[in-house]
Amino acid sequence: MGKTKHTGPMKLKKNPDPSLWVSKVPFGLGKIKPHHIRDTVKVAWENKDNLPYATRILTQGVCDGCALGVAGLQDQTLQGPHLCTTRLNVLRLNTMPEMKHEVIHADIDELRKKSSTELRKLGRIPYPLIRKPGEKKFSRLSWDNALDLIAEKMKKIDPKQYGFYLTSRGITNESYYTAAKVARFLGTNNIDNASRICHSPSKTALTRSLGIGASSCNYKDWIGTDVLVFWGSVAANNQPVSTKYMYAAKRKGTKIIIINPYYEPSMEKYWIPSIAESALFGTKIADDVYQVNIGGDIAFMHGIMKHWFEMEEKAPGSAINHDFIREHVNGLAELKEKVQSYDWETLEKSAGLSKERIEELAIVLAKSNSAVFVWSMGLTQHRFGTDNVSQVANLALLQGFLGREHCGVMPIRGHSGVQGSGEMGADPFVLPGGGFTDQNVDRVEKVWGFDIPRWQGDIVGVSLENALLPEEHERKLKLYYMSGGNFLETMPNPDFVKQCLESVDIRVHQDIIFNTSTFVDAKEAVVVLPAMTRYEQPGGGTSTSTERMVYFSPEIKGPRIEEARSEWEIYVDLAKRVNPEQAHLIDFKDAQEIREEIAEAAPNYDGIQHLKEKGDVFQWGGAWLCEDGVCPTPDGKGNLITMDLPELRKAEGHFYVTTRRGKQFNSMIYSDQDPFNQAERYDVLMNKKDGKKYGIEQGDAIVVYNKHGLFHGKARFVDVKPGNIQVHWPEGNVLIPKGVYEQYAGIPEYNTAVIVEKSETFHAQKDTKYLEKRIEELEMEVG
Ligand code: SF4
Repeated sequence: MGKTKHTGPMKLKKNPDPSLWVSKVPFGLGKIKPHHIRDTVKVAWENKDNLPYATRILTQGVCDGCALGVAGLQDQTLQGPHLCTTRLNVLRLNTMPEMKHEVIHADIDELRKKSSTELRKLGRIPYPLIRKPGEKKFSRLSWDNALDLIAEKMKKIDPKQYGFYLTSRGITNESYYTAAKVARFLGTNNIDNASRICHSPSKTALTRSLGIGASSCNYKDWIGTDVLVFWGSVAANNQPVSTKYMYAAKRKGTKIIIINPYYEPSMEKYWIPSIAESALFGTKIADDVYQVNIGGDIAFMHGIMKHWFEMEEKAPGSAINHDFIREHVNGLAELKEKVQSYDWETLEKSAGLSKERIEELAIVLAKSNSAVFVWSMGLTQHRFGTDNVSQVANLALLQGFLGREHCGVMPIRGHSGVQGSGEMGADPFVLPGGGFTDQNVDRVEKVWGFDIPRWQGDIVGVSLENALLPEEHERKLKLYYMSGGNFLETMPNPDFVKQCLESVDIRVHQDIIFNTSTFVDAKEAVVVLPAMTRYEQPGGGTSTSTERMVYFSPEIKGPRIEEARSEWEIYVDLAKRVNPEQAHLIDFKDAQEIREEIAEAAPNYDGIQHLKEKGDVFQWGGAWLCEDGVCPTPDGKGNLITMDLPELRKAEGHFYVTTRRGKQFNSMIYSDQDPFNQAERYDVLMNKKDGKKYGIEQGDAIVVYNKHGLFHGKARFVDVKPGNIQVHWPEGNVLIPKGVYEQYAGIPEYNTAVIVEKSETFHAQKDTKYLEKRIEELEMEVG
């Protein structure tokens, strides 16, 4: 772990720099851009019934939006206010009153007609509920009856037949830790969290490449680094205040490079509301944009390294950092051989970029003394996501961009809880303080005082599929306990997911609000348990940001939902009912006691026990992991990983589709129109050249289809790489195959090959079995 400590927030330059302005016309008048002031007024209006409480949450609490990390309105990177519309939009979840009685007990078919956006506005779940097969309404249940019912079922079935899942929005480290411990106490390793569908490959790849499972650096390292690379990450949209850090970086001369199939408008220019100059005239962010093919990143990075090796042949020492490699890196010869085995034509075709363009970035990086690589789902949500991320680590290792100021690798997280969930052990492959090695299991068993099951638990996708196993199968999922989350809107193939959800005997939804999955039937009962928000939990809670800052969020005075309980407390209560004889082994008297145990069970988190007041924070691991190039691997060295180019089978006339976010926070949609490009939720983003090729005009009704599903939308021409299209997530999930997981980290594949046709052609041909024939062809082609 690093010896250098983070130095705290720095000052932003006050004097303006017109060279960064988007335009001299104030407030971007006439340009397509978000309206931050209007959005803020709207949020204030929504929260008007609870404005003082809303203000206290914003000024005292730790943001429950993304994982950039902020306590109150202050962060650890820059002085000055830190607030964004994402945080403001999720604020209402914390301040709204409980649902009305007639809504909670409405006819289930009426509730099913509502979208998740409508359901979110209905209010909080006030008390435990149950609905059995054939019942048209939820009935009220006491906490005792609800937990006894779940406990009785758990006692009757094998622990391999139940599982837990925890989402990432708002959940604290204390709840993740308790859930992880309770699951093992009950005898199951079937526990997973929302990072399975976003950053699990980052953790897996960084562990094998560098021996770390988190960002090696800080946001402060962005500011003044030579090159800041965003790879498959639209941070301006998903972590909005990151634009402030990008602005600060540009003021220090940092070059910002974007790698993405779509020339994302928000990464090109942004009007940063908290910086007067930028709010008025905008800020140009991207210095260069490389529009790579969907799935072409490994080839692109092979190309960069291939050019480095070519430069080295001509002038040794001109491209890679030999001193760093000699002291700190394994595997150079193997990697070089693998990279050189690909010819330029193959790499260009897969990457979708010319040799000259690839060389341009190779030279920029080779000439730089420092660089930070930031990535998101554009790299991880592939069936080769772990290789994508290890390839980034390869670039960093060859240049020595690691373990020092202005250097590092950063999987930027989208949800406030996602970094901590795995670190607390709410993961089938992880326990607090490390993986499932004999040594770590023995160590944690000593802390916990009971045996931990040694069998491999299932990832969330497999747990869901296990609901369809035969009744007598030892892994048939019979009870699924979910803390938040809505698989109908996050997992590929929603129809299949619904079938899985319906096939469990008992499904538990521990949540603050209803979502569409709450109304899916179960074979014996659906039980709904009302949870507290992080701001309501007695004794407060902590959450960990992307840059490993562990922030304390205090309990905030305000109105309460009478029967809602702390999530960690519910888990403990349940565990005691399932196994009353051992209840003393799973007891926590308060949140502080949990933090004290976390410090012991997860040694990295030593320090969490001292977080007690508003604003308390510490960074685990110090400022830089792998400081001075020394990695926490068995031999202290980073590992260059060799990999093949992924096989991308896309026949002539077919497209690759990927999903993107609009005005939304993960699956919560806040507007039907993306303020950055005015695209609507069912617009299909495609290149004009492709439209021309297939006789499609802007605004035409089109059908995107493959053997997995159909998507009806409208063509919208944008600057996306030809041959690639984008649809919004989660609407586009109907096109994504079920059961295709990345081999190392289990993330579902969220990209696939599709056919695009004008609606009229599609429907005309459908009746003549043309569609079936095309789908048969596609099955042959895309497997
Ligand atoms: S950028 Fe992220 S952490 Fe910061 S206020 Fe917005 S949602 Fe919260």
